[in-house]
Amino acid sequence: MREKIQMTTPLVEMDGDEMTRIIWQKIKEILIAPYIELKTEYYDLGLENRDATNDQVTVDAALATKRLGVAVKCATITPNAQRVEEYNLKQMWKSPNGTIRAMLDGTVFRAPILVNNIKPLVKNWQKPITIARHAYGDIYKDVEYRVEGAGKAELIFTPEQGGANCQVIHEFEGPGVVLGMHNLDRSIKSFARACFRYALTTKQDLWFSTKDTISKIYDHTFKDIFQEVYEEEFAAEFEAAGLEYFYTLIDDAVARVMRSEGGFIWACKNYDGDVMSDMVATAFGSLAMMTSVLVSPEGHFEYEAAHGTVTRHYYRHLKGEETSTNSMATIFAWTGALRKRGELDGIQSLVDFAGALERASIQTIQEGVMTKDLALLAETDSKTVVNTVEFLEEIAKRLEQ
Ligand code: NAP
Ligand code: MG
Repeated sequence: MREKIQMTTPLVEMDGDEMTRIIWQKIKEILIAPYIELKTEYYDLGLENRDATNDQVTVDAALATKRLGVAVKCATITPNAQRVEEYNLKQMWKSPNGTIRAMLDGTVFRAPILVNNIKPLVKNWQKPITIARHAYGDIYKDVEYRVEGAGKAELIFTPEQGGANCQVIHEFEGPGVVLGMHNLDRSIKSFARACFRYALTTKQDLWFSTKDTISKIYDHTFKDIFQEVYEEEFAAEFEAAGLEYFYTLIDDAVARVMRSEGGFIWACKNYDGDVMSDMVATAFGSLAMMTSVLVSPEGHFEYEAAHGTVTRHYYRHLKGEETSTNSMATIFAWTGALRKRGELDGIQSLVDFAGALERASIQTIQEGVMTKDLALLAETDSKTVVNTVEFLEEIAKRLEQ
């Protein structure tokens, strides 16, 4: 009998839905339980239990993350009208990720897992590029108006103490469109802190870009707040770690990213991050290889896969058909959380295990053993396409060595 690694503080474990819920159990059973005396505080965020608890379980899981510091989350269904019917829900519950993000005031960092037989479309990218996306405001909380004919659009701010400030947006002579949006110093500061902290913990440079030359107040405020937070709270630590923070215009950032070899964090405003993370994910290969971690400004971490519950595969599974679902991003959610727990609690064997499991997973793909999604992309002479469970067993074989 091998001796299992002991944990001191439990991980917050958030279970989820559909195909990823099945993978979740299998990862624990095949890759973790044989090696670790796993300690978790378990929260079932599967849609049925969210409905049964009136979504209280999501709130409890977020509170537990604030208390214990590190969580690992399975993909979950965000209900829409069709899901309300399918699961006979009491109401259309909000996105669990949205609820957790709001409670932790967190920023999401997404980075691809690289393997040497899947080449990024941008040939000089050799290291992962991590996108940090601001998760509050801008066009995601905007007010829009369709102008039907001639008239004057104005921007009015009424201070609580009275008085008013009014600017003309445009004197319309015919039909057009208007939009109003906002952001908050408080939210931008949290975003900045999460970015600086994450750069320090992952030992990567931080880039930040906006369009401040055109948006001289709105975008410029983002630039100024980042600079302020950097100088007041992080500059010394960055220098000591030999890391760099720099701000550049988004046009310049795009050009530099394309020419770079990767290996840095690119912080983006909400819309820029939405678009750029899809671009970076696609250029690196597959959604099934994207990791995601939510980091709060206080330094709480919640690890998950970037993809959803892979519904189409789940329905096939329910019909008894074979599936070939890629579990890499979910495995890396577990290793990310176990490594962070190990670092915080000073358990080196837990940190080492996380590294070993990641290496075994990457090795499996690099030796040509992969799920269907990757087989289409990989440049390997001999490929063995395996099913969902076989892939985990192949990783286990290599981990054992
Ligand atoms: P999805 O689950 O990411 O899957 C979209 C498609 O991408 C799949 O049908 C599959 O393509 C491919 N794919 C994604 N992950 C894969 C993997 N690990 N292995 C192999 N192929 C993979 O997105 P969705 O179908 O739009 O959403 C399904 C549910 O997930 C929704 O209820 C949504 O609310 C939820 N969701 C949750 C999260 C989250 O919890 N973080 C994020 C996004 C979506 P093929 O079918 O062509 O093989
Ligand atoms: Mg998008």
